[in-house]
Amino acid sequence: MIDFSISDEVKEVISALYKFIDIEVEPLRKKFQKELENERYLYDENGVYVQEVQKALKQIREKSAQAGFYNMFGDPRLGGNGDEYGPIAVASIFERIAKKYGVDLFTMEIFPKGLFSGGLTPVLLGMNKEVMEEVLPEISSGETVLCFGLSEPDAGSDVWNIRTKAEKDGEHWVINGTKQWITNAHYAKYMMTFAITDQALVDKRQGGISCFLVPFDGETCTATSTIPALGHLGSATAIVSLDNARVHERYLIGDLHQGFGKALHGVDIGRVVLAAQCVGVAEWALEIAVNYANERKTFGTTIGNHQAIQMMLADCALDIYAGKNMLLNCAWKLEHQSEFPIKEISLTKAFCTEMVQRVVDRCMQIHGGMGLTNELKLEKAWRWARMTRVPDGTTEIQKRTIARRLLQGDMDF
Ligand SMILES: Cc1cc2nc3c(=O)[nH]c(=O)nc-3n(C[C@H](O)[C@H](O)[C@H](O)COP(=O)(O)OP(=O)(O)OC[C@H]3O[C@@H](n4cnc5c(N)ncnc54)[C@H](O)[C@@H]3O)c2cc1C
Repeated sequence: MIDFSISDEVKEVISALYKFIDIEVEPLRKKFQKELENERYLYDENGVYVQEVQKALKQIREKSAQAGFYNMFGDPRLGGNGDEYGPIAVASIFERIAKKYGVDLFTMEIFPKGLFSGGLTPVLLGMNKEVMEEVLPEISSGETVLCFGLSEPDAGSDVWNIRTKAEKDGEHWVINGTKQWITNAHYAKYMMTFAITDQALVDKRQGGISCFLVPFDGETCTATSTIPALGHLGSATAIVSLDNARVHERYLIGDLHQGFGKALHGVDIGRVVLAAQCVGVAEWALEIAVNYANERKTFGTTIGNHQAIQMMLADCALDIYAGKNMLLNCAWKLEHQSEFPIKEISLTKAFCTEMVQRVVDRCMQIHGGMGLTNELKLEKAWRWARMTRVPDGTTEIQKRTIARRLLQGDMDF
């Protein structure tokens, strides 16, 4: 029987997270109110978070790790507690946090980004034991951030088109290339770097891409510039240059030539987490809009009494109800079915990311001019929502996967 309910233990975790945010995150939000409200103070002239904000983010990660949150979904084979929480719990927790706090830089730092591009991510599985002992303590304590280096100027959707190459030189690998759109590159100590180790296998699309843990040394591996987008004055994404970056062979992660499977597995987890955040942010926005519709008056009555506003509210509810049920159904399939729900993950990622933008956009419209200001944080949520349609596979790439599965006979819903 399909059951989306969460256990009392998970409910307690959610309450504990709210408490943690009250005690550890709220004071920082107050302290950095000016930076959070005005990006001129959030970023430096290079578009990188100012030092004080970077320190605050680190503090949140470290406190989260001490409180047992940061690694609670981490891979158990790396020392995380991920075996204690199934996908329904993961989806519900991310959804509830986003529902209460919306798009919030500090709250979103409590867990590693997307659960795969940092922390005790399964992408790190297969690391050499010595390297594990060297790096896992700083990663799991939140002291060190990682980033996920797959995309390149000529390889986004088409990841087989990467150009970054790793060549063997004695006991070392020498890596050259450029990575683009790498979240956290400016703040990370290491990049999980995907590079070609066998071009012939890549040409046949049978492997040939390997994964390496490459340290940012400021010379051979450097985050060269941030990529501001959607009116932001800076961003967390950056271009990374690899110029004869040398790593010992023990920094290869997993099997040689088999890095691509790792990358895809990581991205799949990220899609579910992102969809959960989308559902939560949509609920957050609708609540604000309902409150406003009950207060704001025009033509002698609250705007909630105008049918045009009622239709927009109802359309938001239709979207959220559909998205939330898709998310939970997908999480349930991940938890209870032996076959990996590839189609459902793509359906959920595509729908929820498109859905949150529709919802936030309507909620802004309900607020009239106020919706366009940064006071209610709706415009910030709108920019975030618009962004979600691109990373972790664009909507079109999700639809491509869905159609392929249908054509292969996967007609089960
Ligand atoms: C905010 C943000 C954070 C990111 N973080 C990371 C990160 O940490 N690490 C990382 O490695 N990457 C990251 N990315 C990169 C992201 O994965 C890519 O941007 C994404 O995969 C799309 O690639 P692209 O931008 O090159 O677009 P392209 O692949 O060039 O696509 C351009 C357009 O063509 C469409 N398209 C492409 N191929 C097809 C097809 N076969 N059928 C139909 N339509 C198609 C796309 O949907 C899109 O509309 C991030 C991106 C963003 C925006």
